[in-house]
Amino acid sequence: MSEREPDGAEQQSLGLAREAGIHRIALPTPFRVGRVNAYLIEDEPLTLIDAGPNSGSTLEELEAGLAALGHVVEELELIVITHQHMDHFGLAALLARRSGAGVAAIDALVPYFSDFEHEAEREDEYAAATMLRHGVPRDYARALQALSATYRSWGAPVEVGIELADGGELHLGERTLQVLRRPGHSPSDTVFYDARRRMLIAGDHLLKNISSNAIVTRPLPGEYDADPAASAHLDGRPASLLTYTSSLRATATMDVELVLPGHGPLFGETPALIAERLKMHGRRAEKIARVLADAPRTAHEIAQVLWGDVAVTQAYLTLSEVLGHLDLLTGEGRVREELDGETISFALVADSV
Ligand SMILES: [Zn+2]
Repeated sequence: MSEREPDGAEQQSLGLAREAGIHRIALPTPFRVGRVNAYLIEDEPLTLIDAGPNSGSTLEELEAGLAALGHVVEELELIVITHQHMDHFGLAALLARRSGAGVAAIDALVPYFSDFEHEAEREDEYAAATMLRHGVPRDYARALQALSATYRSWGAPVEVGIELADGGELHLGERTLQVLRRPGHSPSDTVFYDARRRMLIAGDHLLKNISSNAIVTRPLPGEYDADPAASAHLDGRPASLLTYTSSLRATATMDVELVLPGHGPLFGETPALIAERLKMHGRRAEKIARVLADAPRTAHEIAQVLWGDVAVTQAYLTLSEVLGHLDLLTGEGRVREELDGETISFALVADSV
């Protein structure tokens, strides 16, 4: 799995980053998204943003990428993690052990990372329960839960020694990074903003070529009641897409010349990209409203109408996608939830279309 050659615009962006002492190292992952971007910041301390999944081939490529820049793992002094997904933090503990580097992440992630195995299991249970609530057949939900458990070794528990606060700052010798929490893709998405250089290290909050999934995720430990929108739902689930779109709107107001994302090419012109993404979410919500025109349906039934049977690995993402857009419609008062036994279905509110 080799990375395609960067094109002209991308070469230019990578050059801009390099001038700021930031080097992208695209690492292999076993996931559908393909490679994940780690970034080496040549500063004091020598800093790595994101670590890639916990796998031998990823470690080998990271070592080769560092070597090409004249460094070795043992020199790393700080590892910063953008969010809770395995393709971003899996190797962090191993790298920290080998180098003695401190690990930094948003404060809410500290208990999650230190007890990762247990937290991941709870997360999978939560996802399975959400699937059942929304009409996904039991064997399907079980199969996905079992599959998810086999993926877990691409993550590994890690002790976060440097807790970052939303709105705080991370000081390196040559730069100050503002720490901003931008949840929605996951509960812990954190972006790092260099205002002087107008650069944004964005994790998966904003990607150029794919719209980030707003995955319905179990809230982080200690944050169960933090999401006021969740109480609007019969199952108390977080309104991930609403959270995500409000995070996008916050980012759209920032003065950014270059985004360094968690996957794919570096890019600029964020307000236009964000406007396009928000419009797309609006269109998807309309499509779902049309599916409800003849009868109330569960989220799973809506997914079936729109996409038919999907691969079991995609079932939860698909469900999250439907639930997120239903939240947009619910927020506008156009759709309401109904409890039918154990299952939740969605109906158009009369006179609202
Ligand atoms: Zn992610």
